[in-house]
Amino acid sequence: MLLTIENTRKGEDARELGYLLQKHPDRLQSFELAFGQCHIFYPEASKERCRAALLLEIDPVKLVRGSGGKSKGDAPLAQYVNDRPYVASSLMSVALGKVFRSAMNGQCKDMPELAETALPLTIELSAVPVKGGEPFLRGVFEPLGYEVEAERLPLDERFSAWGESRLYQIRLKTEAKLKDVLNHLYVLIPVLDREKHYYVGAEEIEKLLRRSEQWLKGHPLSQVIATRYLRNKKSLATLALERLAENESDKQNGEEGEGEGGTANDATAQNTAVSEKSVGQEEALEKKISLNEVRMDTVVEKLKAIGARRVADLGCGEGKLLSRLVHDFFFQDIVGMDVSIRSLEIAERRLKLDRMPERKAQRLKLLHGSLMYRDGRLTNWDAATCIEVIEHLDVPRLNAFEKVVFGQARPSHVLITTPNREYNKLFESLEEGRFRHSDHRFEWSRAEFQSWSQEICERFGYSVDYFDVGTADPELGPPTQMGVFSRGD
Ligand code: SAH
Repeated sequence: MLLTIENTRKGEDARELGYLLQKHPDRLQSFELAFGQCHIFYPEASKERCRAALLLEIDPVKLVRGSGGKSKGDAPLAQYVNDRPYVASSLMSVALGKVFRSAMNGQCKDMPELAETALPLTIELSAVPVKGGEPFLRGVFEPLGYEVEAERLPLDERFSAWGESRLYQIRLKTEAKLKDVLNHLYVLIPVLDREKHYYVGAEEIEKLLRRSEQWLKGHPLSQVIATRYLRNKKSLATLALERLAENESDKQNGEEGEGEGGTANDATAQNTAVSEKSVGQEEALEKKISLNEVRMDTVVEKLKAIGARRVADLGCGEGKLLSRLVHDFFFQDIVGMDVSIRSLEIAERRLKLDRMPERKAQRLKLLHGSLMYRDGRLTNWDAATCIEVIEHLDVPRLNAFEKVVFGQARPSHVLITTPNREYNKLFESLEEGRFRHSDHRFEWSRAEFQSWSQEICERFGYSVDYFDVGTADPELGPPTQMGVFSRGD
């Protein structure tokens, strides 16, 4: 699976592309992904023409183990024998998001103005499955200002009786900012393919919004794109489009000082005013995804994205996260720790460890322990998760928790979730100033959580990225906030 991006800006050194992508034209760089490997190199890097290539090598076995390859109705062997290793798909988007993240976000350390400059770019994809063929391909890219060339790839002649292949070799030409092009590709590659190969959860809406804010609303095929992206979950797609409209109306009102109010967009905004309750009611989440389930989905997705196979769930409670992890063979080694023996007993009963096949059950251990004390059993893990735990600790004791987790256990990653206090306004039944749970010792705003996290990073040599859990309110943010910490060394 190959994607190339070529810059031919006249009068400048085309190798500037290397600064934008933050990948040096003279070096081959390889990255591990949960489902394989990704290599970045430059087949051509001259002053006039600079072409970067992203080669994605998918390991079908890893893909299945990570359950990323399973889709309902696949025959058993289809999980292993399919064209996923060779064709562009959502896995390409995952890779783009990982290796070109800063370019996608419009960041360019050395030449910030370059990120805001439109460049003559040519993008080639070696084999993309397109449901809807060339007309759909043009319908998607041309309104965004691309010149589209597509060549349908023939089936091997032995199979010609089967008709034509659904694969296209594609060339897209445009004059645009690299970040816009990457965001288009991120959203549209899986849309062409129509199948997303990994779980579509509520967090997907956030990704779609983040990557398409600037362009999807005005696109003639916006409904189809959102629907396909969200794998035909219509109501999720509608929710996403309404949120886009909502953001747009906020922006307009902001720019014009005083919006007129009472517009159609306002009505939409109210209908979708995203309280936890309304999300629960939202048809889209027919499965009645409660905030708790969204939280677990988000955590599992993140753990996979960072490739954490050995996970310690600290303050595991009754084992909600553990039960997700143990049923998923992506995770090889799992430990759940809690200070409450009663919770551990409930976890043990719920997980039905004694009725699981030995091979499955032996991956999980439950430990009794406290996060206030150094514990040798907590060292050498890929990731530690503390899901809705810190707010149960007395503020003066947070310092001990920080030392135990970030100073002594020092896993490669730490995922911490905690309520976002600002969002409490949207819980109608919650009196102002009250906490969501009687055992909470505090609930932080986003700024409070971020300043605490930042200080941890400085003291213990970690960096942190923040993520929303649940659908965020445009002003008040998400119901739950998550920090994903990564160790610097
Ligand atoms: N992570 C679970 C439980 C969250 S409730 C979930 O999301 O469902 C908070 C949990 O933290 C409780 O199970 C509580 O027993 C545990 N806890 C509180 N203080 C702790 C400490 N000092 N060490 C370990 N666990 C602790």
